[in-house]
Amino acid sequence: MNARDIDPRLGDAAKAFLASKHLALIGGQWVGAKSGKVFDTFDPGTGKVIAQVAECDAADVDAAVAAARKAFESGPWPKMSGSERTKLMWKLADLMEQHADELAQLESLNCGKPLAQMRMGELMFCIEVLRYTAGWATKLNGETIQISTPGNFHAFTLREPIGVVGQIIPWNSPLMMAAWKLAPALATGCTVVLKPAEQTPLTALRLGQLIQEAGFPDGVVNILPGFGPTAGAAIAAHPGVDKVAFTGSGEVGRLILQAASGNLKKVSLELGGKSPVIVFPDADLSLAVPGAARAIFGNSGQVCAAGSRLYAHAKVFDRMVEGIAGEAGKIRVGHGLEAGTQMGPLVSKEQLERVSGYLDQGRRDGVNVVTGGNRIGTEGYFMAPTVLTNTRQEMSVMREEIFGPVLCATRFDDEDLERIAREANNTIYGLAGSVWTRDLGTAHKMARRIRAGTVGVNMHGSLDPAVPFGGFKQSGWGREKGREALELYTEVKTVVMSLG
Ligand code: NAP
Ligand code: MG
Repeated sequence: MNARDIDPRLGDAAKAFLASKHLALIGGQWVGAKSGKVFDTFDPGTGKVIAQVAECDAADVDAAVAAARKAFESGPWPKMSGSERTKLMWKLADLMEQHADELAQLESLNCGKPLAQMRMGELMFCIEVLRYTAGWATKLNGETIQISTPGNFHAFTLREPIGVVGQIIPWNSPLMMAAWKLAPALATGCTVVLKPAEQTPLTALRLGQLIQEAGFPDGVVNILPGFGPTAGAAIAAHPGVDKVAFTGSGEVGRLILQAASGNLKKVSLELGGKSPVIVFPDADLSLAVPGAARAIFGNSGQVCAAGSRLYAHAKVFDRMVEGIAGEAGKIRVGHGLEAGTQMGPLVSKEQLERVSGYLDQGRRDGVNVVTGGNRIGTEGYFMAPTVLTNTRQEMSVMREEIFGPVLCATRFDDEDLERIAREANNTIYGLAGSVWTRDLGTAHKMARRIRAGTVGVNMHGSLDPAVPFGGFKQSGWGREKGREALELYTEVKTVVMSLG
């Protein structure tokens, strides 16, 4: 990258990183793709190329899996105690904190997130998920088991690392997805081959440098930038990979499952949603209006748990819709690195086209566009925050994950919680949902009736590292974060001893 093309709003460290070579991390070495190929990565705020990155494919996956296998079976990693792994993870978290400005700038440039939100919000959760999960490295206990077979026996379980894990992550929160995936793998003593999304490889590569600086042994974390159908598919199919963890679309989730069937590797999937925000007539609208707006417009709606379907009681529907449209009108949409930006661009031209395609179809189906509904400007991939009414269940805007700042608002005129929940649950997904009410009984009853992995009451979603996250129904398999995440990366071994 020519230095004069680098965004002047970046600090010196981010500039230096952008100007450097962007290679793959395999077995502790930074190497180009064996094919010699590179691909462009873009600034979604301008559409311009910001760097070129090694384009890894199946041959590089072979090398990375071999390095991960070696690190898992020999060398310092398998001999390390839980407490040593905890210390390494804290070292990495500390390094991320020291380089927080640089990481936030690189992330903002590469995926369009507003810099201040990244720096003060998401990045802190990346760091905290490492620290929180590191604590589990010393608590991977089995149990002693009472058995009834006649004789003298001692039976117990051990919890052991699953082995070499492939991790394939999306572009919507690149560094956070990397941290959510890496933390439980490292805490449990697994080794990793990580593939960031083609749109957003930069922060994963910078993280790889910090992983080395923290002192993780060579081959414990291997990072391969590249494309899904080549590098990603090779990881999912590789016979040397014991488990694959994936976040992204349901379409690719199915491909991962098929590919994983070859060696029956373990699979965990986080596949997005179409999450309801249910507002009861007694709700505090001074909380519900901005809360519902944040739930759909945060990260330009590119959030798997986004509150994309508003169900508001007829008594408060108009006030909710007007209020959210008012919030939408106040949002400052702009380049992620521009001071004061509150909502950045969509990640790519393809994503802008996808979201615009849904809106075109919605218009043909007869939706009413209350606000937004259009692209902003011609440079970069900006989409106006959008609120739709007159939406019906059979429309694609109501059924499919748009992954953009588009809210479908529907009213209900019912007091029966069973029927309200049935409507809210009328989706193939089950990732999240929220209930807005002052009534404790309504809150608890609805929390139990919503078929989703996370339910918020008077809030929507939580990034806290201690709470499990994942989906019911077609939103996925398994839970990340919290203690549950450790289960995705460990095998339980039963040991039975005859004491004679
Ligand atoms: P995607 O294709 O599912 O991408 C997710 C990850 O899977 C990326 O690293 C991708 O690599 C990789 N991948 C793609 N094809 C693969 C294959 N055959 N085998 C193994 N890995 C493969 O998602 P997308 O196309 O970027 O976005 C499309 C839609 O997916 C969005 O509009 C949204 O609805 C949904 N999505 C959901 C989430 C979520 O958090 N649940 C995140 C992102 C997108 P490449 O980047 O190189 O293709
Ligand atoms: Mg894709």
